[in-house]
Amino acid sequence: MKFVGAHVSASGGVENAPLNAMAIGAKAFALFTKNQRQWKSKPLETKSIDAFHENLEKSGILPKHILPHDSYLINLGHHEVPKLEKSRDAFIDELERCRILGLDRLNFHPGSHLVKIAKKDPEYMDKLMQAELNCLDVIADSMNIAIEATKDSNVKLVIENTAGQGTNLGYRFEHLAHIIDKIEDKSRVGICIDTCHMFTSGYDIRTREEYDKTWSSFDNIVGREYLMGMHINDSKPPLGSRVDRHHSLGQGEIGWDAFRFIMNDSRMDDIPLILETIDDTIWAEEIKALYALED
Ligand SMILES: [Zn+2]
Ligand SMILES: [Zn+2]
Repeated sequence: MKFVGAHVSASGGVENAPLNAMAIGAKAFALFTKNQRQWKSKPLETKSIDAFHENLEKSGILPKHILPHDSYLINLGHHEVPKLEKSRDAFIDELERCRILGLDRLNFHPGSHLVKIAKKDPEYMDKLMQAELNCLDVIADSMNIAIEATKDSNVKLVIENTAGQGTNLGYRFEHLAHIIDKIEDKSRVGICIDTCHMFTSGYDIRTREEYDKTWSSFDNIVGREYLMGMHINDSKPPLGSRVDRHHSLGQGEIGWDAFRFIMNDSRMDDIPLILETIDDTIWAEEIKALYALED
């Protein structure tokens, strides 16, 4: 069974997110548990937490179908120590907020190396590879630290694949595998695959053949058991462009076939499938359209 929803607004308090999900007929949702553009937020208030649970019950949505997203400011692979530490602290706080809300997974972008290497540098490729490898190791260290700091929690750290824009890492399955390999407690790690990011980072899913090829390479390199959520987005930019611009379903470069494959793929059962498409006024229609693709 598929659980489709969208990244809904939590403005006015986290308790509003389940109501916003219900209003669009969602069976899953994503949310920010704090303002995603600020470092600091007030701790969650008891009355907000209680109302969140009440509204969740009304919606009938289960915690495992909720995929909270962390703040965009956090970079767990930062190459400057003070900024890295700030990110690590904020990330641990995000994990705690999830635990307090009774949620079991937190979705985040792995990080960016931010190293500037001149393209005309004769050692450009070597230096780039080194910067990427170092950054992946720093990300894994950050995750191990966060897992250790939240030992009593069962919130999973769900790494999202990226489009590979700028110096963002996580655009190759090998990056995700490299990070997971270095995590001591693998029971606390998961992966979220964003279809737009997958496509713009160079993995085609538009035909049955390409879809199967892409997912078998995910299975071989990363491992399907780690898949704990997906972001269902069409893409404005073309295959392999490494540019992160989402589009409404069927209006971008990916097209409906890929979403039909997903909706009929039992490997995507029972995980949150979250729209982050650009027009929130048609989310209810997009959710209906996805369910209509099921055979
Ligand atoms: Zn995404
Ligand atoms: Zn994106």
